[in-house]
Amino acid sequence: MAFQKGWFADLRREVFDEQRPYAIVQADVPFEPFQLLGVRAVSNQWWASLIAAKKMAPAYLDAMEARGYHDGLCRYCSLGLASTLAGDRRPGPWGGLPRPALICARLTCDCIQRVFSTWAEALGTEFVPLDNPGATLLPPRWWELSRSRWRELVEPHRLAFAVADLRALIGVLERISGRAFDLDELRALMHAINTQEAIFDEVRTLICNAPKTPVRMTEQIANVMATCPEKSG
Ligand code: SF4
Repeated sequence: MAFQKGWFADLRREVFDEQRPYAIVQADVPFEPFQLLGVRAVSNQWWASLIAAKKMAPAYLDAMEARGYHDGLCRYCSLGLASTLAGDRRPGPWGGLPRPALICARLTCDCIQRVFSTWAEALGTEFVPLDNPGATLLPPRWWELSRSRWRELVEPHRLAFAVADLRALIGVLERISGRAFDLDELRALMHAINTQEAIFDEVRTLICNAPKTPVRMTEQIANVMATCPEKSG
């Protein structure tokens, strides 16, 4: 918990106080290239929860609907856009988001391409989309392949497509940061993440096999957005 608090304090200082180049990203975007190239990444969902915690969400959503956006738009992922559209009259938490160097999203939900391209236009920044190529084959018990036999699960054309998208993102991050991407650094980070995930799995199995639930959901939910293994390890 102390590490996470320190991480957010650093994020707030660098992005909001010092106005360093940073990115707004969807929570399911891979954060590793941002971390390795030193570009701070603010998660859209984290910003939305901060707005909600400050009780600013209803006013932003009303303002968005007054502009003609339909009231069925997913709140969780469009609240950040709403805060930008209405931010001139009601600045967001900590004075509102500074202009990011880029925004980035995986196109995993139908509305996201439109939400993020509209947001990029409102912020005057570039939008880097990461496509989400769908599987043409789904083997039985596919989830058992994803850990160590993932090459049998991820079709080569989908993998090549996703790699091309990630290379384009890395190119943008290199331009913004002035730093060069190092594949060996990524490899080391991914090994650390695998180690961390194996520990999570061990804990999950212990919890599942316990005669009574030893921890509450609210105590565990923060692990969904786990900490950075490079720094916490
Ligand atoms: S369904 Fe997709 S767009 Fe809607 S809130 Fe969930 S992640 Fe966001």
